[in-house]
Amino acid sequence: MEGRKQVTRLLFVAFLLGIGYVAWLAHWMQSEGAPQGPEPTGQPSVVRPTRTPRPTRTPRPTRTPRPSPTVSPSPRPLRVGIVAGHWQNDSGAICPDGLQEVTINLDVASRVVAILQYEGYMAELLPEFSDRLNGYKADAFVSIHTDSCSVPEASGFKVARVAGSAIPEKEDRLVACLIQKYGEVTGLTFHENSITFDMTGYHAFSEIDPETPAAIIELGFMAADRELLTEHGYELAQAVAQGIACFLEGE
Ligand SMILES: [Zn+2]
Repeated sequence: MEGRKQVTRLLFVAFLLGIGYVAWLAHWMQSEGAPQGPEPTGQPSVVRPTRTPRPTRTPRPTRTPRPSPTVSPSPRPLRVGIVAGHWQNDSGAICPDGLQEVTINLDVASRVVAILQYEGYMAELLPEFSDRLNGYKADAFVSIHTDSCSVPEASGFKVARVAGSAIPEKEDRLVACLIQKYGEVTGLTFHENSITFDMTGYHAFSEIDPETPAAIIELGFMAADRELLTEHGYELAQAVAQGIACFLEGE
Protein backbone atom coordinates (compact mmCIF):
# COMPACT_ATOMS: atom_id res chain seq x y z
CA MET A 1 0.00 0.00 0.00
CA GLU A 2 2.91 2.34 0.85
CA GLY A 3 4.46 1.79 -2.58
CA ARG A 4 1.17 2.48 -4.32
CA LYS A 5 0.67 5.73 -2.37
CA GLN A 6 4.16 6.85 -3.32
CA VAL A 7 3.52 6.17 -6.98
CA THR A 8 0.26 8.14 -6.78
CA ARG A 9 2.10 11.06 -5.15
CA LEU A 10 4.78 10.99 -7.80
CA LEU A 11 2.12 10.95 -10.50
CA PHE A 12 0.37 13.82 -8.81
CA VAL A 13 3.62 15.83 -8.61
CA ALA A 14 4.30 15.03 -12.29
CA PHE A 15 0.76 16.17 -13.11
CA LEU A 16 1.30 19.46 -11.28
CA LEU A 17 4.62 19.96 -13.05
CA GLY A 18 2.90 19.25 -16.36
CA ILE A 19 0.20 21.84 -15.66
CA GLY A 20 2.89 24.28 -14.58
CA TYR A 21 4.80 23.67 -17.80
CA VAL A 22 1.70 24.11 -19.96
CA ALA A 23 0.81 27.33 -18.11
CA TRP A 24 4.37 28.65 -18.56
CA LEU A 25 4.34 27.70 -22.21
CA ALA A 26 1.01 29.46 -22.77
CA HIS A 27 2.33 32.59 -21.04
CA TRP A 28 5.56 32.50 -23.05
CA MET A 29 3.75 32.17 -26.37
CA GLN A 30 1.45 35.03 -25.50
CA SER A 31 4.25 37.39 -24.58
CA GLU A 32 6.36 36.39 -27.61
CA GLY A 33 3.48 36.60 -30.09
CA ALA A 34 2.14 39.86 -28.72
CA PRO A 35 3.88 42.28 -31.11
CA GLN A 36 2.41 40.43 -34.10
CA GLY A 37 -1.03 39.61 -32.72
CA PRO A 38 -3.63 42.30 -32.21
CA GLU A 39 -4.91 40.79 -28.91
CA PRO A 40 -3.44 43.10 -26.23
CA THR A 41 -4.74 46.60 -26.64
CA GLY A 42 -1.95 48.18 -24.60
CA GLN A 43 0.95 46.80 -26.58
CA PRO A 44 0.53 48.44 -30.06
CA SER A 45 0.90 51.88 -28.47
CA VAL A 46 4.30 50.69 -27.28
CA VAL A 47 5.25 49.48 -30.76
CA ARG A 48 4.09 52.50 -32.75
CA PRO A 49 6.34 55.11 -31.13
CA THR A 50 9.35 53.14 -32.34
CA ARG A 51 7.97 53.27 -35.90
CA THR A 52 6.97 56.95 -36.02
CA PRO A 53 10.56 58.32 -36.21
CA ARG A 54 11.01 56.56 -39.54
CA PRO A 55 9.08 59.04 -41.78
CA THR A 56 11.36 61.83 -40.58
CA ARG A 57 14.34 59.75 -41.61
CA THR A 58 13.14 59.26 -45.23
CA PRO A 59 15.44 61.46 -47.37
CA ARG A 60 12.75 63.58 -48.98
CA PRO A 61 14.97 66.66 -49.58
CA THR A 62 17.08 64.59 -51.96
CA ARG A 63 13.95 63.52 -53.81
CA THR A 64 12.48 67.01 -54.35
CA PRO A 65 15.12 68.11 -56.92
CA ARG A 66 14.01 65.25 -59.17
CA PRO A 67 10.77 66.84 -60.46
CA SER A 68 12.67 69.79 -61.96
CA PRO A 69 14.75 67.65 -64.39
CA THR A 70 11.52 65.94 -65.51
CA VAL A 71 9.94 69.34 -66.22
CA SER A 72 12.85 70.77 -68.23
CA PRO A 73 12.74 68.21 -71.10
CA SER A 74 9.31 69.54 -72.13
CA PRO A 75 9.88 72.17 -74.89
CA ARG A 76 9.94 75.71 -73.58
CA PRO A 77 7.56 78.11 -75.27
CA LEU A 78 9.25 80.22 -77.95
CA ARG A 79 9.54 83.87 -77.01
CA VAL A 80 8.51 86.65 -79.40
CA GLY A 81 8.82 90.41 -78.91
CA ILE A 82 6.50 92.67 -80.93
CA VAL A 83 7.06 96.43 -80.98
CA ALA A 84 4.05 98.62 -81.70
CA GLY A 85 5.91 101.34 -83.62
CA HIS A 86 5.93 104.76 -81.92
CA TRP A 87 3.68 103.49 -79.11
CA GLN A 88 4.24 105.31 -75.81
CA ASN A 89 6.56 107.77 -77.55
CA ASP A 90 5.06 109.69 -80.48
CA SER A 91 2.32 109.48 -83.12
CA GLY A 92 4.55 108.47 -86.05
CA ALA A 93 3.36 109.67 -89.46
CA ILE A 94 0.17 111.77 -89.53
CA CYS A 95 -2.09 112.09 -92.57
CA PRO A 96 -3.77 115.45 -93.44
CA ASP A 97 -7.06 114.13 -92.06
CA GLY A 98 -5.47 113.27 -88.72
CA LEU A 99 -4.96 109.51 -89.13
CA GLN A 100 -1.95 108.56 -87.00
CA GLU A 101 0.53 105.80 -87.76
CA VAL A 102 0.70 104.71 -84.10
CA THR A 103 -3.03 103.85 -84.14
CA ILE A 104 -2.54 101.34 -86.96
CA ASN A 105 0.72 99.97 -85.51
CA LEU A 106 -0.77 99.39 -82.05
CA ASP A 107 -3.92 97.79 -83.44
CA VAL A 108 -2.01 95.32 -85.59
CA ALA A 109 0.81 94.66 -83.07
CA SER A 110 -1.68 93.88 -80.26
CA ARG A 111 -3.49 91.45 -82.55
CA VAL A 112 -0.22 89.79 -83.58
CA VAL A 113 0.65 89.24 -79.91
CA ALA A 114 -2.83 87.82 -79.18
CA ILE A 115 -2.66 85.44 -82.16
CA LEU A 116 0.83 84.22 -81.24
CA GLN A 117 -0.16 83.73 -77.59
CA TYR A 118 -3.20 81.77 -78.69
CA GLU A 119 -0.92 79.58 -80.78
CA GLY A 120 1.25 78.84 -77.73
CA TYR A 121 4.11 81.30 -78.16
CA MET A 122 5.34 83.49 -75.31
CA ALA A 123 4.61 86.72 -77.17
CA GLU A 124 4.67 90.19 -75.66
CA LEU A 125 3.88 93.73 -76.78
CA LEU A 126 6.68 96.27 -76.48
CA PRO A 127 6.71 100.07 -76.79
CA GLU A 128 8.95 101.95 -79.24
CA PHE A 129 11.45 102.89 -76.55
CA SER A 130 12.02 100.91 -73.38
CA ASP A 131 14.87 99.89 -71.08
CA ARG A 132 13.61 96.37 -71.61
CA LEU A 133 14.92 96.49 -75.18
CA ASN A 134 18.52 96.65 -73.91
CA GLY A 135 19.97 93.17 -74.49
CA TYR A 136 16.46 91.84 -75.22
CA LYS A 137 16.52 88.10 -75.80
CA ALA A 138 13.85 86.30 -77.80
CA ASP A 139 13.42 83.72 -80.55
CA ALA A 140 12.05 86.45 -82.80
CA PHE A 141 11.64 90.22 -82.61
CA VAL A 142 9.50 92.23 -85.03
CA SER A 143 8.82 95.96 -85.00
CA ILE A 144 5.61 97.03 -86.71
CA HIS A 145 5.39 100.37 -88.54
CA THR A 146 3.32 101.94 -91.34
CA ASP A 147 4.36 104.24 -94.19
CA SER A 148 3.11 107.82 -94.36
CA CYS A 149 0.55 109.54 -96.56
CA SER A 150 3.30 111.65 -98.16
CA VAL A 151 3.32 109.68 -101.46
CA PRO A 152 -0.42 109.31 -102.24
CA GLU A 153 0.00 106.83 -105.10
CA ALA A 154 2.48 104.55 -103.27
CA SER A 155 1.21 101.10 -102.26
CA GLY A 156 2.88 98.03 -100.81
CA PHE A 157 4.86 96.81 -97.80
CA LYS A 158 8.51 96.61 -96.77
CA VAL A 159 10.51 94.24 -94.57
CA ALA A 160 14.14 94.67 -93.52
CA ARG A 161 16.71 93.49 -91.02
CA VAL A 162 19.71 95.27 -89.53
CA ALA A 163 22.47 96.17 -91.99
CA GLY A 164 25.41 94.52 -90.16
CA SER A 165 23.69 91.41 -88.86
CA ALA A 166 25.44 89.07 -86.42
CA ILE A 167 23.17 86.26 -87.58
CA PRO A 168 22.52 87.09 -91.28
CA GLU A 169 21.24 83.64 -92.29
CA LYS A 170 18.65 83.55 -89.52
CA GLU A 171 17.52 87.12 -90.03
CA ASP A 172 17.33 86.70 -93.81
CA ARG A 173 15.05 83.73 -93.21
CA LEU A 174 12.84 85.79 -90.86
CA VAL A 175 12.65 88.54 -93.49
CA ALA A 176 11.90 86.02 -96.27
CA CYS A 177 9.12 84.39 -94.20
CA LEU A 178 7.52 87.77 -93.45
CA ILE A 179 7.68 88.85 -97.12
CA GLN A 180 6.19 85.55 -98.29
CA LYS A 181 3.32 85.27 -95.78
CA TYR A 182 2.46 88.98 -95.66
CA GLY A 183 2.35 89.19 -99.46
CA GLU A 184 0.24 86.02 -99.71
CA VAL A 185 -2.33 87.03 -97.10
CA THR A 186 -2.69 90.76 -97.87
CA GLY A 187 -2.14 90.73 -101.64
CA LEU A 188 0.14 93.78 -101.26
CA THR A 189 3.35 94.03 -103.28
CA PHE A 190 6.79 94.08 -101.70
CA HIS A 191 8.47 97.49 -101.99
CA GLU A 192 12.08 96.35 -102.06
CA ASN A 193 13.55 99.50 -103.59
CA SER A 194 12.16 101.97 -101.07
CA ILE A 195 13.80 100.36 -98.01
CA THR A 196 15.69 103.15 -96.25
CA PHE A 197 18.27 103.49 -93.49
CA ASP A 198 15.33 104.18 -91.16
CA MET A 199 14.64 100.48 -91.50
CA THR A 200 18.10 98.87 -91.72
CA GLY A 201 19.49 101.23 -89.06
CA TYR A 202 16.39 100.98 -86.85
CA HIS A 203 17.36 101.94 -83.27
CA ALA A 204 16.06 98.77 -81.56
CA PHE A 205 18.31 96.57 -83.74
CA SER A 206 21.36 97.93 -81.93
CA GLU A 207 19.72 97.75 -78.49
CA ILE A 208 18.49 94.15 -78.42
CA ASP A 209 20.76 91.11 -78.03
CA PRO A 210 22.61 90.62 -81.36
CA GLU A 211 21.62 86.93 -81.25
CA THR A 212 17.90 87.78 -81.29
CA PRO A 213 16.59 87.43 -84.87
CA ALA A 214 14.93 90.76 -85.65
CA ALA A 215 13.08 92.48 -88.46
CA ILE A 216 11.06 95.62 -89.08
CA ILE A 217 7.93 95.71 -91.23
CA GLU A 218 6.12 98.64 -92.85
CA LEU A 219 2.57 97.34 -93.21
CA GLY A 220 1.57 99.57 -96.12
CA PHE A 221 1.03 103.19 -97.13
CA MET A 222 -1.50 105.20 -95.15
CA ALA A 223 -2.94 106.84 -98.30
CA ALA A 224 -3.31 104.17 -101.00
CA ASP A 225 -3.53 101.18 -98.62
CA ARG A 226 -5.74 102.95 -96.09
CA GLU A 227 -8.75 100.66 -96.27
CA LEU A 228 -6.63 97.57 -95.66
CA LEU A 229 -4.73 99.26 -92.82
CA THR A 230 -7.73 100.68 -90.99
CA GLU A 231 -10.42 98.08 -91.62
CA HIS A 232 -8.57 94.79 -91.94
CA GLY A 233 -6.28 94.84 -88.92
CA TYR A 234 -7.02 91.22 -88.13
CA GLU A 235 -5.94 90.01 -91.59
CA LEU A 236 -2.76 92.09 -91.42
CA ALA A 237 -2.02 90.65 -87.97
CA GLN A 238 -2.66 87.12 -89.22
CA ALA A 239 -0.21 87.78 -92.06
CA VAL A 240 2.53 88.99 -89.69
CA ALA A 241 1.89 86.16 -87.21
CA GLN A 242 2.08 83.60 -90.01
CA GLY A 243 5.37 85.09 -91.16
CA ILE A 244 6.81 84.79 -87.64
CA ALA A 245 5.47 81.23 -87.22
CA CYS A 246 6.98 80.34 -90.61
CA PHE A 247 10.39 81.43 -89.30
CA LEU A 248 10.05 79.82 -85.85
CA GLU A 249 8.75 76.50 -87.16
CA GLY A 250 11.32 76.41 -89.95
CA GLU A 251 8.78 76.25 -92.76
ZN1 LIG B 1 7.02 104.44 -88.05
